Amino acid sequence: MHSESIKKMSTSLDETVKYYFSINNKEYFVNDLIGSRINIKWRGKVLCQCGREMKKFYRSGFCYTCFWESPQASQSIFKPELCTAHLNIEERDLAWEKEFQLAPHYVYLANSSGIKVGITRKTQGVTRWMDQGASQAIILAEVPNRRFSGDIEVSIKEHVSDKTNWRKMLSGEPNEIDLLSIKKELSLYVPEDLKQFISDDDAITKIKYPVSQYPKKVKSLKLDKLGSVNGILKGIKGQYLILENDQVFNVRSHEGYVAEFSVENDSLQSSLF
Ligand SMILES: [Zn+2]
Repeated sequence: MHSESIKKMSTSLDETVKYYFSINNKEYFVNDLIGSRINIKWRGKVLCQCGREMKKFYRSGFCYTCFWESPQASQSIFKPELCTAHLNIEERDLAWEKEFQLAPHYVYLANSSGIKVGITRKTQGVTRWMDQGASQAIILAEVPNRRFSGDIEVSIKEHVSDKTNWRKMLSGEPNEIDLLSIKKELSLYVPEDLKQFISDDDAITKIKYPVSQYPKKVKSLKLDKLGSVNGILKGIKGQYLILENDQVFNVRSHEGYVAEFSVENDSLQSSLF
């Protein structure tokens, strides 16, 4: 991968989530940058996963060709209930789809801005929850492939949202929810033939984020509108950098943007003069 382009921050679960951001051949421990002024300057180019450089993406972070041809942009990526690799039916690239879909998946319930249902590869579980800024999460079901998780999700999302309200997620910590009793309640709606996959694991994962100050009225910053983003870092939640003056920057939605990242240490500067 091109080291000049933005990629989502990597995380590790600790007392508070630890965030790492790699760009321009450097890795930053982002938690340590809270209180410092950061600067992200866009070079006016984006880079597709296939290596093609462009002025802007065609759609959903892909170039035209990838959007219409890559298995990573197929319909079942956005709608897991359309997955067919478990039936040996190709959508765009059966070998890739088998590798991606025929792996254990979780259906989970999380509380990031209220209750939501979601799916993820089992290996991604906690990472997914941290990326969404969830404060609590519980596994509802563990299934052998992506299609079954999509089928369960479809039946559950008639009762709870499958979306995170990111503005609400960024405005503070949500009220605690009794996820276990909601799991029991929602398990009733799992389709009969998939009930065998309801998980016995009732552990609730609790997640805290390094935020010194939440925004009051969230203003989202976009590089293609502004060219650059600059401000004192106040915290990190989900894949968002929270900056001073209620501004937020979604790192994940800027994946592929070719940029320069720099840090100024304000406290160090003021002590010099
Ligand atoms: Zn491409």
